[in-house]
Amino acid sequence: MIMEATPPSTLEDEFNPLLSAEARFDEAAARLGLDDGMQKILRTPAREIIVHIPVQLDDGRLEVFTGFRVQHSIARGPAKGGIRYAPDVTHDEIRALAAWMTWKCAVANLPFGGGKGGVICDPSLLSPGELERITRRYTAEVFEFIGPEIDVPAPDMNTNEQTMAWIMDTYSMHARHTQTAVVTGKPVDLGGSKGRTEATGRGCMIVIEQALRRLGLERSATRVVIQGFGNVGGMSAKLMSRAGFKIVCIIEWDGAVYNARGLDIPALMKHRRDTGSIIGFAGGEEIDRNEAMFLETDVLIPAAKENVITSQNAHRLRTKILCEGANGPTTHAADSILADKGIFVIPDILANAGGVTVSYFEWVQDRQGYFWNEQVVNDRLEEIMVNSFQDVVAYAQKHGVNNRMAAYMLALDRVAFAIKLRGIYA
Ligand code: NAD
Repeated sequence: MIMEATPPSTLEDEFNPLLSAEARFDEAAARLGLDDGMQKILRTPAREIIVHIPVQLDDGRLEVFTGFRVQHSIARGPAKGGIRYAPDVTHDEIRALAAWMTWKCAVANLPFGGGKGGVICDPSLLSPGELERITRRYTAEVFEFIGPEIDVPAPDMNTNEQTMAWIMDTYSMHARHTQTAVVTGKPVDLGGSKGRTEATGRGCMIVIEQALRRLGLERSATRVVIQGFGNVGGMSAKLMSRAGFKIVCIIEWDGAVYNARGLDIPALMKHRRDTGSIIGFAGGEEIDRNEAMFLETDVLIPAAKENVITSQNAHRLRTKILCEGANGPTTHAADSILADKGIFVIPDILANAGGVTVSYFEWVQDRQGYFWNEQVVNDRLEEIMVNSFQDVVAYAQKHGVNNRMAAYMLALDRVAFAIKLRGIYA
């Protein structure tokens, strides 16, 4: 019997990413008929590390920062996932994101488990030197628990190529030899992969093209609204406008710009570089940023943050396709509303898997010591994204479920199968 997911009792519960992830997990596990023991294994992180990091600040004071690394699963390979720096990082959030990485890697059929890390700190108040010291001490504290065969971190919120270079260097100093494959998202000159910066946006475009084909829509007549003009949103906008899509609206935290004929994305990027904002762009009109997500469109890409599509507003969406560039932009309570409206959802664990896929390529290239040109990276990314999309849609059809549930079921099935094949070591 399929258990109906329990509705969240409060809005606060609805916005708790751990509860959303658990509710989707519960439903997928029940539909798959996984026994209690297997559910317990899949639900519980394999390993969780909490470190307290003493760091000397520039003014001489000592401060202690708290960091996490959660390895949710290592059943299919080393744990894989980003490290975020933010003042409101919580253990629960890192746990939820680590599990998400397990399911994302499994949907893309990559030989990785899932992990995530975070340090509670406010990067806007820290100097580069302070951030470097936090990063190096964090790396030293988790040294035994990360590594190319163990757990491979990557950038996430407020961490970047430079952070990864510091981690790689610190790890290598402790290991007494250079080990580039310990992290991904490194600068290309330090063993990073070509194509990584555009990978998540490119992956979104590839799965959207697959969805258009299924729905019989023409690329040139396809209107696209994108929330967030950072790495995922900006790269999606750039690549998709170049490919002939009409990007009619970009929504940022401080405003939204709209042009029914399609925005000139390179010009908007230049305007933002020059002025620090998308506001005041001559090639479009400014519209209410709180209403822009509800414009009539063909494709909506939330690519900014979690919990933007909720039980309170999902009924107002007017899009045919929802491509979740961000992690967790839709709460669990909103899923059924989207399904009732017949919106074709490309769930986050599929839609934004392009980033981790090229991270996988980076790890492979580092381990081989042989680097691919950008065309090879892009072609292999396309193959994996198309296959993953087809796997999810076929699973949805076979089991009569929506795409998100299909992605979760496929992922759980793959991880559970690996655990069964390996058996339980005792
Ligand atoms: P980013 O910081 O580069 O970009 C985020 C953008 O969203 C920024 O321009 C920011 O100003 C904007 N923004 C913030 N709050 C907003 C709001 N309320 N309304 C509209 N815009 C807002 O981050 P990113 O790397 O593009 O990541 C975005 C999301 O995608 C996150 O959920 C992240 O976890 C997820 N993601 C990123 C990658 C990747 O490769 N970068 C891969 C997978 C998933």
